[in-house]
Amino acid sequence: MTDLQAVLDSIHKELAPRIGEGKVADYIPELAKIDANQFGLSVVTVDGKVYNVGHAEVPFSIQSISKVFMLTLALGKVGEGLWKRVGREPSGSAFNSIVQLEQEQGIPRNPFINAGAIAVTDVVMAGHAPREAIGELLRFVRYLADDESVTIDDRVAKSETQTGYRNFALANFMRSYRNLDHPVEHVLGVYFHQCAVSMTCEQLAKAGLFLAARGSNPTTGHSVVSPKRARRINALMLTCGHYDGSGDFAYHVGLPGKSGVGGGIFAVAPGIASIAVWSPGLNKVGNSQLGAVALEMLAARTGWSVFGD
Ligand code: GLN
Repeated sequence: MTDLQAVLDSIHKELAPRIGEGKVADYIPELAKIDANQFGLSVVTVDGKVYNVGHAEVPFSIQSISKVFMLTLALGKVGEGLWKRVGREPSGSAFNSIVQLEQEQGIPRNPFINAGAIAVTDVVMAGHAPREAIGELLRFVRYLADDESVTIDDRVAKSETQTGYRNFALANFMRSYRNLDHPVEHVLGVYFHQCAVSMTCEQLAKAGLFLAARGSNPTTGHSVVSPKRARRINALMLTCGHYDGSGDFAYHVGLPGKSGVGGGIFAVAPGIASIAVWSPGLNKVGNSQLGAVALEMLAARTGWSVFGD
C-alpha cells in the first residue's frame, strides 16, 4: 500500500524551490493580483480519505474547471441532445480561439474550450433567469462538495465582465450562427460567474469525487450521474481538458483532467481517487505549470496513469 500522505509530502518538498514558477493570468485584472508563491494539493480516495499538502485549504478561482460541473448539469437536462450544439473533438487551439468557429459554422469543437463552455451554459439557462442559472450551478457544486461555504467571488466575475472582450466575440459569433438562444450579455453574465466560483483544493477534490467513483459520491451516498456518463465526462477531460496542451498532459500525467487559468487542475484516477492541485503560475498554453508537474510526480509514484503503471 502506497503511503499517500508521504507521497504528497515528498512532492511538496521537492517542488518547494520551484513554487512561484510560471506567470499568473493577467488578462483578468483580479487574477493578476494573486500571489504566485502558493501551492496546494489534495487527494480524496474513493473510500473518502482526504490527503492534503501545502495550501490545500486556501480558496482560489476555479475558472475553467467550472466547465466540468456545467457540462454535468447540461447533460442532465438535455442528455445526448447536447451534441447538436457542441462537438467532442480536441481543438488543438488555444482555449479562447475563434478560428474553428467560422470553419465549423458556430459549433464549437468541445465543451471545454471557451466557445463550447459558453454554448453549454446557454443550454443550462433554458427556462431560467440568468440569476437562477448561477444559483443552480452554485447549489450543485455545494451539494457535490457537501460544503455550503463554497462561494462566488463577485470581484473576479465583475473584472472579467469588464475585460472579457474575447468571450464577447465568441458569444456574438455563435449567436450569429443561432447557436445561442439567450442574449449574449445574459449568457456571459452566467459564464463569468461560474468561472468565478472560489474553492479550495480539498473542496474541489471532494466535489469531483463522483467522477472517480462511477458517478456516485461514496462519502455522501449521492448518486450524481450514471457510470456511463461519468466515464464519458472523463473521456472528454482526457482528450480536451487542457486545450492545446491536452496531448502533452496525457503524455506526462495520463489522467483525465481539467485546468483553469486560476492555476487549478482537477484530475481523476478512475476507481481510485479525485485530485485537485493549485499553483497560480501558468505555462505558455495557460495551464498551471507546477500543477502539471506535481500531477506527473503523483501519477508516477502511485502508478495511477490510466495507461498503465
Ligand atoms: N474565465 C476564463 C475565460 O473565459 C476561463 C479560461 C480558463 O480558465 N482557461 O477566459
